[in-house]
Amino acid sequence: MSELKQMDYSNLQSLHRKAKEDFNAIKQENLSLDMSRGKPSAEQLELSLGLLNTVNAENIGDNFSVLNYGLVDGIPEAKALFKEILEVNTEEILIGGNASLNLMHDIISKALIKGVLDSETPWGKQDKIKFICPVPGYDRHFKICEQYDIEMISVDMLEDGPDMDKVEELVRDDASIKGIWCVPKYSNPDGITCSDEVVERLAKMETKAQDFKIFWDNAYVIHDLTNNPPSLKNILEECKKHGNPNRVFMFASTSKITFPGSGVAVVAASKENIDFIKSQLSVQTIGPDKVNQLRHVRFFKNYDSILEHMKKHAEIMKPKFDAVLNILDFKLGSYGIATWTEPEGGYFISLNTLDGCAAEVVSLAAEAGVKLTGAGAAFPYGKDPRDRNIRIAPSFPSLAEVEKAIEVLSTCIILVSVNKLL
Ligand code: PMP
Repeated sequence: MSELKQMDYSNLQSLHRKAKEDFNAIKQENLSLDMSRGKPSAEQLELSLGLLNTVNAENIGDNFSVLNYGLVDGIPEAKALFKEILEVNTEEILIGGNASLNLMHDIISKALIKGVLDSETPWGKQDKIKFICPVPGYDRHFKICEQYDIEMISVDMLEDGPDMDKVEELVRDDASIKGIWCVPKYSNPDGITCSDEVVERLAKMETKAQDFKIFWDNAYVIHDLTNNPPSLKNILEECKKHGNPNRVFMFASTSKITFPGSGVAVVAASKENIDFIKSQLSVQTIGPDKVNQLRHVRFFKNYDSILEHMKKHAEIMKPKFDAVLNILDFKLGSYGIATWTEPEGGYFISLNTLDGCAAEVVSLAAEAGVKLTGAGAAFPYGKDPRDRNIRIAPSFPSLAEVEKAIEVLSTCIILVSVNKLL
């Protein structure tokens, strides 16, 4: 295979003809495959079915505090279990409901109305506030900003996390920049893990806003696909070390450990921040679903067994990731029309086409029966300035379906790229 850009006209034409034939043949198959969201497969959900049997009328015992109102910050046993995931102390964690996105959304909407711990003025009472959004990133983070008119400033993701030269420069001079989103381990969609240096720089950087916050969404904290996962420095410890203990909110959940529909979400931060969040939360609810917290505690018992459980997820996920990477390599190889990431964990593979091709590839794939995440979704306002990024989510379909879908995707990429070059 040689680079497409170096091919002569007749070779390009025959490649186009072949891709067109393949595409037409695929259309005859009337496929209906969905690779659009990072949902666990049924096989993965089955790993946690036992959780549903851990609490019932016979074995609930005298856990009346679990059944009753109260314990707004979660049951102590759940704190003891989940504090290990984020490596924090018991007083630095709050156990919420089933969705960490909900916690993030709540903290931001309350910051707009009331401010955060260190605010002089609520964020919403200031002229304009802004968030730094590393790109490509998680579309639902960006939707929260869009919903509340928080201006988004894109900063590129580099190989070891957000471009820190740019981040430092921005936050040093602009008091209206109140936060940064960060998925520090196996980022969505690139699968990048922040290096120690990036973590340190985020923790110690000078910020013009005294109420600047890092939204550290560690959604894939233990979602490894290899036996030698990259390590991630504890950002709360770094923030404390550099005199900014209240700078970071860390989030995680069991959505992709047990059930996305009824997992347990947590937020971890300095004790002062947790006390502040708890006092606000007490107005909103008299307590979360603690029965579900107890189910999780009984199902897992300890942190090691959560890690064992994650290995079973990896056994299901890894062959799908491998299939995506092998097929992309086989079909697109050295054509020079796409690059892609090779994550060691998380839920996504991020692919870049030639500039200006992604939207067309996604719509062509849809025409062939393969639904992908919308092009541009990983960028603020849904606009990829280079129209090149496609997020591949291989978890939900079966292995055979993943293989088929990536073959279709590769054919669409060839077709659109050759069209562009002809
Ligand atoms: N953060 C990231 C980076 C995610 O990818 C997802 C799920 N796709 C979530 C948060 C959602 O987490 P939860 O189910 O806990 O709201």
